[in-house]
Amino acid sequence: MSDEILRIGVFVCECGHNIAATVDTEEVARFAEELPNVVAVVQNRYTCADPGQQEIQSAIAEHNLNRVVIASCTPKIHEPTFRNCVAEAGLNPYLMEMANIREHCSWVHMKDREGATVKAKDLVASAVGRAGRLVAQDEKTFPVTDAALVIGGGVAGIQSALELADGGHQVYLIERGPSIGGIMSALDKTFPTMDCSI
Ligand code: SF4
Repeated sequence: MSDEILRIGVFVCECGHNIAATVDTEEVARFAEELPNVVAVVQNRYTCADPGQQEIQSAIAEHNLNRVVIASCTPKIHEPTFRNCVAEAGLNPYLMEMANIREHCSWVHMKDREGATVKAKDLVASAVGRAGRLVAQDEKTFPVTDAALVIGGGVAGIQSALELADGGHQVYLIERGPSIGGIMSALDKTFPTMDCSI
């Protein structure tokens, strides 16, 4: 760990009613203010929308943030969005962490506001803890061969090789036995057609 003094900003998304109707986002924001190394907390109506992203970038500049935690939806959707957002504000994109308080809280505990809020606070605290351990990453691009190696000529290996070939890749299929087909090739009949397996 470096000697860098952490300055973490936490952004709590309401997602309209998607999150705020179940999770008490104000309470989550108040809770986040008390977490170690957190110097700014902002509640956003829609964090991924332009106004929300502008609030993130303004807070990075205003509070000199060196880590950002976004409590919103699954990273599958908006991790690239927020990485670009913080990068535009001059922060390394890998110094951003997310807490999923929508799919993991408001959506799955929609009849339990109190429980969903407690869980959201736990997820935010965990994300803040992780954020403090993030280190900046550089992206590098290297040329790679487009060919694929499949080891094992059983049913799974054959199918994988065919699908890779259909995708336009050159495929090398390696089988240690004298023929392909694996266990399947040793079967006399297969259910339900009772055909020969080969
Ligand atoms: S960041 Fe995710 S949770 Fe927030 S408004 Fe956008 S889609 Fe909804």
